Amino acid sequence: MTFSCVACGRPVTRDEIAVTKKLINRGMTAFYCVPCLAAYFEVKPEDILERIRYFRQMGCTLFDPVGDMREK
Ligand SMILES: [Zn+2]
Repeated sequence: MTFSCVACGRPVTRDEIAVTKKLINRGMTAFYCVPCLAAYFEVKPEDILERIRYFRQMGCTLFDPVGDMREK
């Protein structure tokens, strides 16, 4: 199942879906890509990517495992 960013329409990755849930609301059914999430929170896209890395390191199962980038 694929989703598009509700703000810009770009297809979102599994990580972007996961970080939307973590940062906004776990029950979210609308998702944002990294640049639009950054705009939403008024931060830099790098800050969102840093959060993704952080949650992945914490072992959050919403995110792809470390090193598994084959689907990208
Ligand atoms: Zn977007």
